[in-house]
Amino acid sequence: MSTVIETRKGKKGRNKNKASTAKVKEKETAVRANHRARNIATVVKTVKTRQRQRGAEVGREASDAAAGAAAASTAATSAATASAAEVTTPRKPKVETPRTHEDKVETKVEDRERVSKEEVEELREIPKTKEWKLLYIPYPFDDNMRVTAESASATVTETGLEAYKGLCLMCEKDETCKHVRPEGGVWRCEEYEPRTATAERPLRKRSVFENVARQFTKAAELMNLDPNIRRILSRTTNEAVVNFPVKMDDGRVEMFTGYRVQHCNLLGPFKGGLRFHPSVDLDEIRALAMWMTWKSAIVDIPFGGAKGGIQMDPSKYSIEELERITRRFTFALGNNIGPEYDIPAPDVNTNPQIMAWILDTYLSTVPPQERQRCMHVVTGKPVESGGSLGREKATGQGIVFLLEEWAREHEFDLKHATFMVQGFGNVGSWAARLLERLGAKLVAVEDVSGALINTKGINPDDLAGYASFKKGLVAGYPKAQPIDRETFLRTEADIFIPAALENQITAETAPWLNVRLVAEGANGPTDPDGDAILQERGIDVLPDILCNSGGVIVSYFEWLQNKRSELWELEEVDCKLHKRLVSAYQRVRDTARENNTDARTAAYILALSRLELAYKKRGIFP
Ligand code: NAD
Repeated sequence: MSTVIETRKGKKGRNKNKASTAKVKEKETAVRANHRARNIATVVKTVKTRQRQRGAEVGREASDAAAGAAAASTAATSAATASAAEVTTPRKPKVETPRTHEDKVETKVEDRERVSKEEVEELREIPKTKEWKLLYIPYPFDDNMRVTAESASATVTETGLEAYKGLCLMCEKDETCKHVRPEGGVWRCEEYEPRTATAERPLRKRSVFENVARQFTKAAELMNLDPNIRRILSRTTNEAVVNFPVKMDDGRVEMFTGYRVQHCNLLGPFKGGLRFHPSVDLDEIRALAMWMTWKSAIVDIPFGGAKGGIQMDPSKYSIEELERITRRFTFALGNNIGPEYDIPAPDVNTNPQIMAWILDTYLSTVPPQERQRCMHVVTGKPVESGGSLGREKATGQGIVFLLEEWAREHEFDLKHATFMVQGFGNVGSWAARLLERLGAKLVAVEDVSGALINTKGINPDDLAGYASFKKGLVAGYPKAQPIDRETFLRTEADIFIPAALENQITAETAPWLNVRLVAEGANGPTDPDGDAILQERGIDVLPDILCNSGGVIVSYFEWLQNKRSELWELEEVDCKLHKRLVSAYQRVRDTARENNTDARTAAYILALSRLELAYKKRGIFP
């Protein structure tokens, strides 16, 4: 069901879109000039600081010795904290007494008392000679989701997180990394050498929970969220980690680790997808569970937030093994899921078939008389097994409904727009197919197997047909040229739909984008550093917690249909989905205007206000 509003037609429409892109570029040039001016001012400041410091050098040596002792004591605290958190923290940072010059630099920034703003500025001026990456951050957040000096060895200054000393994710040394510099508010490792992700060797990832914490903090501070509510929402409610054995086809037994994190069930039962991927861990699942809470609150459905998954690469297993893994995981989760308590759904590398196995396994554990009343233990099921019409395409459909709203507001002609998609699975392929039906042209696509370009247009239906014979992968598609990841991200298009994994648009990649709008199909595709760059460059963002909420909305419809033993027509599902999304879009837009902020922060404010109100009415037991 389409409601596209055409504000311009044909060539005229195309010219208008081009004019808007020119405006974005103009804005970008102005911002760059401004930055250059600011950088020059900072360099002048740094030179003055250095002159002052030279005078104080003798005294400084003595204080460096004291700093070494202070760092050693911080190290002891970190070790204790890390050990207490052993159950949930995958690796503990070992901290050593500083020895090298770099250690001294770290120590300087680490010591909250002695670090001055100018010193931080100076350290930030260190030129970028190599690729930089975030350090591994286990869980250094306090009750209010602020980064704390007490947890591990993170350091906070007025400007937020300034330093973190822990295990380096990029050079993967099992000791405190000695190759880091502060940049963009976090430590980055200069030993990191960029490499391309493959199915066999995916890139080690950055902390996703840190991203959600930074987004939450920004909104909570802007809206002045009640400190008690802030404390509650900063933490997850339950975290289940299950290790379970599964028999392989060749008779071996393999052990798997699965997770289910339940963040909040204030507005309704816990709700969220299950992901099968090598990157799955507590950090990622916690972040995804929190995003689910905000998402349900924004679109006004009576669900809370949860997420789960298994750390594994499903491409390595046969269908029979996948079925046994799924069933054994469901069994291991036991009563941690339930139709009125916590309802899983598909996510990365899971699909309606996997939901059907979960349903069947769960039903086998309840008495026969109760089975019919438990069909809604999972959503995203095949229609033949109690699923809803329209659920499979729901997330992609939701993205397209929101794009129509955005186009209406910006007098943008979708009919002549070009777009690119990252991830050609459920979300990406449906978004591409439905957007193409409105007249837009897919010019580039990327998945885990590689990237493709064809400026004359790629037919998404044809590509989906090709991929269905190639294990879902796009590589080798003959009607487009293969390109590398950087060329893909630099492709000129009107709209970019990231629909794969987290942390794709970062400080490194955001400057490459050559688009007018990012419509976030994936959860967390843009990290806060990347987000700031998009804002500076005047690139609009439809934030994930709004943009991909079509999936959970239709999951709610499926849940209702199961409870009432009904089957709704596709038109009814689409129409209800459209109504909810348009209304959520308008609320987010109005909140952004009222608070003079970006769409993501506005979406957070909307969600947090709703949760704050509910907590205040209900009170805290006892
Ligand atoms: P999927 O498994 O169907 O597809 C994932 C796609 O991403 C695949 O095409 C895969 O090849 C690609 N991919 C994986 N790693 C990649 C990499 N490093 N670079 C480029 N591409 C890569 O998963 P999905 O259900 O489409 O989910 C995609 C995203 O959308 C996830 O972030 C998920 O959390 C989010 N999401 C999904 C739903 C849903 O209903 N399925 C709802 C809301 C949000």
